[in-house]
Amino acid sequence: MSHNIFISDLHLAPERPGTAESFFGFVKGPATQAEALYILGDLFEYWIGDDDLSDPFNASVANALGGLTREGVAVNLMQGNRDVLMGDEFAARCGGRLIADPVLLDLYGTRTLVMHGDTLCTDDVEYMKWRTKARDPAFQARFLAQPVPERKRLILGMRQKSEEHKQGQPPAIMDVAKLTVEQVLRDFDYPRLIHGHTHRPARHVHRVDEHDCERWVLNDWYERGGYLRCDASGCATRAL
Ligand code: MN
Repeated sequence: MSHNIFISDLHLAPERPGTAESFFGFVKGPATQAEALYILGDLFEYWIGDDDLSDPFNASVANALGGLTREGVAVNLMQGNRDVLMGDEFAARCGGRLIADPVLLDLYGTRTLVMHGDTLCTDDVEYMKWRTKARDPAFQARFLAQPVPERKRLILGMRQKSEEHKQGQPPAIMDVAKLTVEQVLRDFDYPRLIHGHTHRPARHVHRVDEHDCERWVLNDWYERGGYLRCDASGCATRAL
C-alpha cells in the first residue's frame, strides 16, 4: 500500500557508528518502499554548514539519501535544533528538498501537521531564547564566516552547554507544553500532528474544542532505530 515514512532525532555522528549503521540499513531497506520520506529534524548530532560536505561521514549520509531518491522516494528534510544550518546545498546533494517547520500535509486525505517539535516546548524559557538567537540570520552569518575547525570547536562548546542545561532541568520542562500543543492544533484547524525532538515516543489524543486530534511523537535513534509509517488507513510505529 502506498505510504509515507517519518523519522527524526537520529543524531547521526561518527562517534555513534551503530546508529549510522541502522540508518544506512533503513535507507536501503524499509525506506525504499515509501512514496516519501520525511526527516523531521536532528538527522545529525550537529551541522556546522553545508560547506562541510567534504567530511566523509557527512558525504556518506548525503550519498545514502541520494541513492534513495534515485529509487524514486521523495526525500523531505526539515531542520532540527541540532542541524538548524542544514541548507539547500545539502538537500540538493541528497536529491531532496528542505521543507518549512511546520508544514501542513495532505496525507492520503488526512490533514497532517509536521514539525520538529522544539517550538512546542515553551516551558523551557532559556531554550526558547537560544532558539531565537540560533535562527537569527546575522548570528548565523557570523558563525558561518568562521573557518571549519573553529566552527567545530564552537559547536562542541554549545553541545556541552546544552547538556549542562538539560541536566539542570526537571524533565517536565523539556516536554511539550500542553496548552501550546492545543493552541497549535486550534491554529491549524485541528489536524493530526507528527513531531519529534522530545525523545518521548508515543501516540497521544488531544481533545481540543470538541475535536479529537492525534499527536504522534517520533522516537530517537540512540538505542534503537524506528519509524512512523502512515497510509490511507492511519499511522503505526515500526521498529527496525
Ligand atoms: Mn531536537
